Amino acid sequence: MTSPIIIDGKEASARLKDGIAKAVADLKKRHGITPGLATVLVGDDPASHVYVASKQKTAVELGMASFQHDLKAETTQDELLALIEKLNADPSVNGILVQMPLPKHLDQVRVITAIDPAKDVDGLHPESVGRLVAGADTLASCTPLGCIMLLKDVLGDLAGKNAVVIGRSILVGKPVALLLLNENCTVTVAHSRTKDLAAVCRTADIIVAAVGKLEMVRGDWIKPGATVIDVGINPIPSPDGKRRLRGDVNFAEASAVAGAITPVPGGVGPMTIACLMVNTLKAACNQRGISDVAIPLSLPKKA
Ligand code: NDP
Repeated sequence: MTSPIIIDGKEASARLKDGIAKAVADLKKRHGITPGLATVLVGDDPASHVYVASKQKTAVELGMASFQHDLKAETTQDELLALIEKLNADPSVNGILVQMPLPKHLDQVRVITAIDPAKDVDGLHPESVGRLVAGADTLASCTPLGCIMLLKDVLGDLAGKNAVVIGRSILVGKPVALLLLNENCTVTVAHSRTKDLAAVCRTADIIVAAVGKLEMVRGDWIKPGATVIDVGINPIPSPDGKRRLRGDVNFAEASAVAGAITPVPGGVGPMTIACLMVNTLKAACNQRGISDVAIPLSLPKKA
C-alpha cells in the first residue's frame, strides 16, 4: 500500500486566504468597497475570546474591516437583539458572527434568527439552512464548507462518490451531508443509533467524521484508498500539561489504509476561519449585486 496523501489544511487555508486577499483588493479597486465583519462575543469564556480574536485578526490581514463587540456576561436578550438590529442596518457591516455558545440565559435560536440572512456568514440562520436544503446558492456554514473545499481539492469532481458522514449536528454533520448531496455524492448520514457503523463506513469512498469521540473510527472501518476528513477535536491528556488534540479517526491506523486523510490538528481546523472570510466577501458582493469580483468558492490551484 502506498502512503496516503496527508491533506495539509494549513497550506490549503493559506492558499484560500491568498485568493480572498486578492479578491478583497479587487473589490476595493473596482467598487471602493471594503467588506466588514462584525463579531459579537458575550461573556468571558477564554476559548471564545481566542476564537474571536483570531477571526478579527484574519479579517484585517485580508484587507477587511473588523468591528468587535464584546458584551458582558449579564447582557440581556433585548440588549443583544438591539445590537444585532443595529448591525443589520449598518451598511459597513456585511457579515455578523455571534460567537457560540452564548451564556445559558440567552436564547441561541432567537439570536441566530434575528441576524439578517444576507449577513449570516456563519450559515446558521434557518433561511441559509433552507437554501442549502433546496440546493440554492447560500452562505453555508464554515467548517462544512472547508470540508468540501478540501475534498474537491484532492479528488476533483465528487459526483457519484459514496460518502458517509458520521454525525448529524446542525453545525457540522447535516450541512456537510447537504453540501455533499449538492455535489452529487450518494450520502449516508450515520449517528449514535446507526447499526454496524464499521460496515457502513466500509462502503464509503469518502468518510467525514464529526462526532467528538476520540479516535472512534478505526483502520479496518476504512475502504482501501478512501478519503477521510476528520472534523473531530478531542483534547488528550499530556504529561507536560500542554493542550494536545486528536481527531475522531485513529490516524495511525487509518493512514495505513486511506488514499488521503486530514490530520488533527492541521486539517479541517484552519479551513474554518478562511471559509468565514469567503462568506464575508461573498455577502459583501451579494449585498451590492456585484458579480465581477472572483470570489474563491473553491481552493485556488497550487502554484
Ligand atoms: P455534536 O455533539 O453536536 O454532534 C455529534 C454527533 O455525533 C451527533 O449527531 C451524534 O449522534 C453523533 N455520535 C455521537 N456518538 C456517536 C457514536 N458512537 N457513533 C456514531 N455517531 C455518534 O458535535 P458537533 O457536530 O458540533 O462537532 C463534532 C466534532 O467536530 C466535535 O469534536 C467538535 O469539537 C468538532 N468541530 C470541529 C470544528 C473545526 O473547525 N474543526 C468545528 C465544529 C466542530 P446523535 O445525533 O444520535 O446524538
